[in-house]
Amino acid sequence: MYQAKQRGRNQVALATDATQGAPGPSLQAELRTALQEDQLRLHLQPVVDVSAPGLAKVVGAEALVRWQHPRLGLLAPAAFLTLAEETGHITAIDLWVLEAACRWLAATPPAAAAPLHVAVNLAGRTLVDPRFLATVRGALRRHGLTPGQLVLEIVESRSLVDLPGVVERLAELRQLGVRVSLDDFGTGFSTLSWLKNLPVDQIKIDRSFITALPDKASVALVRGVLALAKELGVEVVAEGVELFEQLEALRSADCHLVQGYLIGRPEPEPSLETRRVGVGATA
Ligand code: C2E
Ligand code: MG
Ligand code: MG
Ligand code: MG
Repeated sequence: MYQAKQRGRNQVALATDATQGAPGPSLQAELRTALQEDQLRLHLQPVVDVSAPGLAKVVGAEALVRWQHPRLGLLAPAAFLTLAEETGHITAIDLWVLEAACRWLAATPPAAAAPLHVAVNLAGRTLVDPRFLATVRGALRRHGLTPGQLVLEIVESRSLVDLPGVVERLAELRQLGVRVSLDDFGTGFSTLSWLKNLPVDQIKIDRSFITALPDKASVALVRGVLALAKELGVEVVAEGVELFEQLEALRSADCHLVQGYLIGRPEPEPSLETRRVGVGATA
């Protein structure tokens, strides 16, 4: 708790110290009660359009879960998602986030032009859960959202590829009008074959490629991904933009949808105002 507070605003702790051999209930046991006791928190990070020079216009937000742990403070997903996958709690967490994200979007005043979207991350298990499609439909209806306002982010992995029903489920979701995004693009298992086999609406270029910008090889990679995406009619988002020169490199490659600390960190109530982005003029 002390450590988490010391890290300051928006900083979240990793539970490693406290989970390894510490006395008290196991994180696994506590995870079971986290949902019942309402300890999960919804943080949102703005996704912006930077096609207008110097301006970042919010088009949506990504929902990122945190766990307000009674002893350990605010925990990042890295501290508990693997455990949640192993113990099967992940689907309950994902569905909690889906509901909270839709509720947030419905309560958010519409932006001037187009309606905002909210993006929710999903584990493969959640995606293939038989309840999932009905849950999505119900959440959209309950909160009065159009299906196009919901983006579902999936991470390519061997286990996801091997799950029976993934392709059909994604097709059903897209049929509904919900958008599907391929998260962490470029890092996972068999990226290109995924693009070939799975019809998706969006890809998110992984932060590891953005971090190296404007390094020549990374610029080439980003341009290549954009060209590929254009051919396939897929939207591209660059994630993890921290520096103005990274933003400029993306902009000159015609990559206009971005997300990152430069624009805004994940927060419980993110600012959705259009903001200036320039040297020394960050959010
Ligand atoms: P992700 O979906 O790729 O989300 C982006 C991660 O990068 C987030 O970490 C975000 O806080 C962080 N990030 C954003 N901008 C920057 C930046 O400029 N610099 C740096 N260094 N980091 C940045 P977070 O919130 O810790 O989440 C980590 C991962 O946990 C997510 O990666 C996602 O795969 C997973 N996750 C988060 N929420 C959920 C959820 O509700 N369900 C599931 N299944 N997975 C989730
Ligand atoms: Mg994501
Ligand atoms: Mg990602
Ligand atoms: Mg990730």
